[in-house]
Amino acid sequence: MARENTNNRKAIMVTPEACIGCRACQVACKSWNQLSGMKTKNNGTYQNPPDLASSAFNLIHFREVPSQENPVRWLFVSRRCMHCDDAGCMKICPSGALFKTNDGAVAYDRNKCIGCKLCVNACPFDVPRYDADNKITKCHQCSDRTNAGMQPACVKTCPTGALKFGDRAELIDDAKKDGFKTIYGEKNLDGLGSVYAFKDEPKLYGMKENPAIPRSLVFWHNYLKPLSVIGLGGVVAAAAFHYLAIGPHKEKDEEV
Ligand code: SF4
Ligand code: SF4
Ligand code: SF4
Repeated sequence: MARENTNNRKAIMVTPEACIGCRACQVACKSWNQLSGMKTKNNGTYQNPPDLASSAFNLIHFREVPSQENPVRWLFVSRRCMHCDDAGCMKICPSGALFKTNDGAVAYDRNKCIGCKLCVNACPFDVPRYDADNKITKCHQCSDRTNAGMQPACVKTCPTGALKFGDRAELIDDAKKDGFKTIYGEKNLDGLGSVYAFKDEPKLYGMKENPAIPRSLVFWHNYLKPLSVIGLGGVVAAAAFHYLAIGPHKEKDEEV
């Protein structure tokens, strides 16, 4: 039966309880997007790489949390772009490099990226990274595959159904029927395109309870960005705003 989905929005549903931590999704993403390998160090966890990077659009966050039944409870939580409906990265971008796909995902045109890195500070989930050419990189929900009727590479590869792609409303309905207590992302930031089925509170899975776009960036979107179009020039206005509101940009440590 078709369910209500007024804006035709698609999503990836992540179910940590169904994930076995095999990280096939990480490999599939690298393979499809032709991302290079990274040299990393063993830091006492199976999580590898330690964080998202210009050549790692997704990763499995390994979390050890208290458990009454077992000595330890392991949670494997897939991290990637959340494809926010109210996307801070899109709001702040002065060059129009970020855009919504027909499925509601947030993709980008790297040729339009001017390397200002404002989107890094506007993202409540610390997602955008920059490649060696100073261009934005991140998960684009495999828009090149989904436009051709295929599943995202990570979803296609997942052997357990911990990742599912499809009609967003249907995925959320199904997770609720399966008894999941929290659907993270159902309402946050007007609805995320990466939604999570949780048995427990979001913080147990390492997720922010109330993700929000920084207020200073809303000010930029509402007042300064229109002025930059009139006369100041998008790049100059963006650079001035970056310095005044956020300070000099600090590079992320990436062991490449
Ligand atoms: S998670 Fe960050 S990068 Fe992804 S759409 Fe939301 S604001 Fe943009
Ligand atoms: S949807 Fe595509 S780009 Fe995004 S994490 Fe999965 S494989 Fe990578
Ligand atoms: S491929 Fe599926 S089961 Fe394996 S780590 Fe990724 S989400 Fe988990």
